[in-house]
Amino acid sequence: MDRDQFKTAAHAAIDDIIDYFDGLPSQRVIPTIEPGYLRPQIPDVPPEEGEEWAAIQADVESKIKPGLTHWQSPNFMAFFPASVTYPSILGEMYSATFTAPAFNWLCSPACTELETIVMDWMAMALGLPGCFKSDSPNGGGGVIQNTASDAVATMMVVARERRVREQALAEGLVEGSPEFEDRLMDLRPRLVALGSDQTHSSTAKGALIAGTRYRSVAARLEDNMEMTGDRLRAVLERCEADRLTPYFITFSMGTTNTCAVDRFAELKAVLREKPAWQRIWVHIDAAYAGAALVAEEYRAIANEFADGVDSFNMNMHKWLLVNFDASCLFVRKRTDLTSALDITPAYLRNHYSDTGSVIDYRNWSMSLGRRFRALKIWFVLRSYGLSGLRAHIRNTVRLGEVFADLVRGRSDLFEIITRPAFALTVFRVKKDNAPTVSEESNALTRDVYELVNSRGEIFITSSVVAGVYAIRVVSANAQAEEVYIRRAFDILVKAVEEIQNNHRI
Ligand code: PLP
Repeated sequence: MDRDQFKTAAHAAIDDIIDYFDGLPSQRVIPTIEPGYLRPQIPDVPPEEGEEWAAIQADVESKIKPGLTHWQSPNFMAFFPASVTYPSILGEMYSATFTAPAFNWLCSPACTELETIVMDWMAMALGLPGCFKSDSPNGGGGVIQNTASDAVATMMVVARERRVREQALAEGLVEGSPEFEDRLMDLRPRLVALGSDQTHSSTAKGALIAGTRYRSVAARLEDNMEMTGDRLRAVLERCEADRLTPYFITFSMGTTNTCAVDRFAELKAVLREKPAWQRIWVHIDAAYAGAALVAEEYRAIANEFADGVDSFNMNMHKWLLVNFDASCLFVRKRTDLTSALDITPAYLRNHYSDTGSVIDYRNWSMSLGRRFRALKIWFVLRSYGLSGLRAHIRNTVRLGEVFADLVRGRSDLFEIITRPAFALTVFRVKKDNAPTVSEESNALTRDVYELVNSRGEIFITSSVVAGVYAIRVVSANAQAEEVYIRRAFDILVKAVEEIQNNHRI
């Protein structure tokens, strides 16, 4: 494809992209195809000769779009949203154009420097304590990771290394000696990472990747599924009784099931009770709900991170208008990262890195090469401004409240399970006089959920919360509007009535 052909193709693609967004409200959200639908439509072997763009674009229309789940539809209310906006798409275009896997500052100074600047902007936008900024006296800073799962796994490896090295040094062993290395290996199997049973599965997976154990703290419905201090203390004491060393804990700001916010103040107070517990690495996973911190009414939550917290992550690619991937990770002490992850062969050495005057983000993440993701964040922050981001958060939270009020208004049909939060409502369908936790109620809720999703007019998710089969409705994507939220509620009511009538016949 030469420059003129690119110009024609790009214009055609952009027209198509705009039409795609415009057409979403009237489309089914989930496709009607069956598994394996694509293979018969695509040649078995790659083309020997190059093809025209028009032919390729036609196949996007006829073969790809019919197999898409439309995450950008205003009728997509499942999981958490994966947002995208036009400035963010432009960021991707430039990033692809410059393609510079900037592992070192020298590999493309603008990539590194813009990343540092936009992460500082984000720390300010989210009201994070100054200790997470790149100019903090404690040497903190932010880095863009692919996903929250990468961020958590990276922190766990770093926390593991910090813990075993500290221990070996405290025992008087000399760093780099064979005895030191042996001791690190001896210590690792006794390490245990913690979360609550509502913490996202990425923490358990991170423990697997870090080669350590994992234990969870049970959350209770009467505590709104939040992790509490008493429960944490009991698990820490159990670990001690089992001669295990807790080294890492994830606290959640917005759990995946119900958007619960763990009780940071009381959890941190428990960790202060014993010197060994004070050494536990505390990570805040705010993958989805962290976006809300741009609005002042949520700022009190961020004040809790000023002490007793080692790292924090949130995904702009969920609720903050930047497309996947844009996971922001902030650490209090960057040398924790670099001492664990810096391996510098001769071919990566250069004057700037050697003098320590620049950031080399390869030492802040698992991968070496990295995409220029700071651009799309910069474009979105500049196009919307903080006021635009706040307006998006407030509007979608308001839509969540509209939906929760509709659910409350039909207490004959529905029961809300946990406090609605961050544009998420979690509820069950009531079955006559059956108790909240009962097979009959669970079966009815499951039937309603499956009927609604099978019709494809909206897409929602279900989960099981403290034994209750529950439906989750999220109103937070970039296209969300009240008309669609109200329609979703009507669809749910109709489905309940239909199923109840069928049962009566
Ligand atoms: N943490 C929480 C609270 C989540 O809800 C999710 C996904 O929904 C994740 C982590 C994982 O996110 P990612 O897909 O960026 O790894």
